[in-house]
Amino acid sequence: MTETHSTAARGDSGPEVARLVASRVLDVPDFPKPGVMFKDLMPLFADGKVFREVIDGIVEYHGRDAFDVVVGIEARGFVVAAAIAYATGVGVVPVRKAGKLPRPAHSVSYELEYGEATLEVHEDAFTAGHRVLVVDDVLATGGTAEATLDLVERAGGTVTGFTVLLELGFLGGRERLTPRPVHALLTV
Ligand code: AMP
Repeated sequence: MTETHSTAARGDSGPEVARLVASRVLDVPDFPKPGVMFKDLMPLFADGKVFREVIDGIVEYHGRDAFDVVVGIEARGFVVAAAIAYATGVGVVPVRKAGKLPRPAHSVSYELEYGEATLEVHEDAFTAGHRVLVVDDVLATGGTAEATLDLVERAGGTVTGFTVLLELGFLGGRERLTPRPVHALLTV
């Protein structure tokens, strides 16, 4: 396990917050399977001062009145979404893995490297036209984000922003989501 050191950290909110995120990510090789470098953001969540600065940076980027609700993608996205919601006085809608929601839900399935995954959101999660900020910890290939953004719009929300703490730029997630805007605090 090694810390991600970067002298020239870059991201859509500038080098300062990018450096802050980079200082609280641990690279875990071969997790959850051989060949994957897992970006562990638990140290960032665990550091109260840094977590608050990161959340404030996200709010500042979008503007305090730019969204009516925040969507978090299971599971680490929930941590980020709840903090943004509390900071801005809006609510949280969780997008969950299959079979976890208790009431009627929209669902979308998408391809993973091996097999398929399904995400769900309650049918009544959004008020029509509500502006939705979607957040997650890491953007990799963009499959999860693409499925989530489709799901939110199918459920009646209007996606106005998508933020991740860390983007793996070489996997092309941002291009896959074009023309939807991607806001990444740190791009590696
Ligand atoms: P993807 O659909 O390929 O963009 O994968 C994004 C989702 O998988 C996010 O919910 C991430 O939390 C998780 N994920 C994918 N790759 C990584 C990685 N290298 N490190 C940490 N989380 C990852």
